[in-house]
Amino acid sequence: MTKTATGRPEPKPYILGIHAYVPGKSSGKDGKPLVKLSANENPLGSSIAAMEQLEAPRGFSTGAAAYPDPDSKELRAALAKLHQLDEARIVCGTGSDELLNLAVQAFAGAGDEVVFSRHSFAVYDIAARRCAATPVEVDDRDFTADVDALLASVTERTRVVFLANPNNPTGTWIAPEEVERLHAGLPKDVLLVIDEAYGEYLAPEFQVIGFDLADAHDNVLVTRTFSKIYGLAAERIGWATGAPHIIDALNRIRGPFNVTTSGQKAALASVDDQDFVRMSREHNTAERARFVEAITALGNHGICAVPSEANFVLVRFEGEVQAETALNALGEAGYAVRHLPSQGLPDCLRITIGKSEDMDAVAACLRALCDDLGGGRA
Ligand SMILES: *Cc1c(COP(=O)(O)O)cnc(C)c1O
Repeated sequence: MTKTATGRPEPKPYILGIHAYVPGKSSGKDGKPLVKLSANENPLGSSIAAMEQLEAPRGFSTGAAAYPDPDSKELRAALAKLHQLDEARIVCGTGSDELLNLAVQAFAGAGDEVVFSRHSFAVYDIAARRCAATPVEVDDRDFTADVDALLASVTERTRVVFLANPNNPTGTWIAPEEVERLHAGLPKDVLLVIDEAYGEYLAPEFQVIGFDLADAHDNVLVTRTFSKIYGLAAERIGWATGAPHIIDALNRIRGPFNVTTSGQKAALASVDDQDFVRMSREHNTAERARFVEAITALGNHGICAVPSEANFVLVRFEGEVQAETALNALGEAGYAVRHLPSQGLPDCLRITIGKSEDMDAVAACLRALCDDLGGGRA
């Protein structure tokens, strides 16, 4: 009577083709808690105004028993005001992860192709496969999205192109003119999703290209998140802006109550506290420069930093100290960083920019490893 060979429900083969997302670690092999420099979280925490919202006592009638605002109205209005966008062209999500997945689900399916760069965000491959679409990974150049290669990979089956800008896990970005060139080279019926999870870490003048494209064209969706510079990863809030027909499609398939009440309130308070955002950006820019300088000093040991515009640095190990050795030594020293062999980066560690003293300790640990292993090849 049963239709499957095993006589039990069988997941679709394209679902079994998915490698589940591996989150950054926060403890060592022995379970010892580590300082977490593995998930690109904000080392300064979150805005005090947001914390006050999260900690506010919640009465029964207005609190947890009531469904949240299904349309995140106040939050969308505040985001529209901050970024000079039309609130009707904004949708909020359970993290931007939800919106990245919905973008594929709404516009691609079996037989369609979803294009993205090698060494970009692991969610794009999952988002494509879970809709039975075909992920198409395109070679990057110097750990950076290669616009010509992306355009060359577009076929008549391409429905969605992802660009993470700045990119995770490499930290690299492409300049506004390159983003424009990518968009201009795409057929008008291909959706370009510009994932700006780290957009706020760029200097303000570079933050607007995605929004401008999303405003001017019918085939651009820009996603942002409260998980990174806003320091609200635990609350799971993302948002996106694009043309009305794109937002309409996402609204049809998103969870109807996809952002919690506490999340909406905390995000709203965070939007109003741009001083915290500026402070976080300044901390990141200064500490990243200091950390890159410390890494560059290990150049004669084959260790170097990929230029980063984000809140982390991809450190390459091409000398006698191997990435895995460094990963273990940092674990011993109390630090969790990200090793990504499954993303084709076995010789690299992605290290989140943390507090000043933690970056000093990480650099010192790597320096000590180099010293232990001899004089390098200088
Ligand atoms: C962290 C990250 C996200 C966002 O995740 P949320 O679901 O909003 O927490 C999206 N894209 C990239 C490239 C990221 O690194």
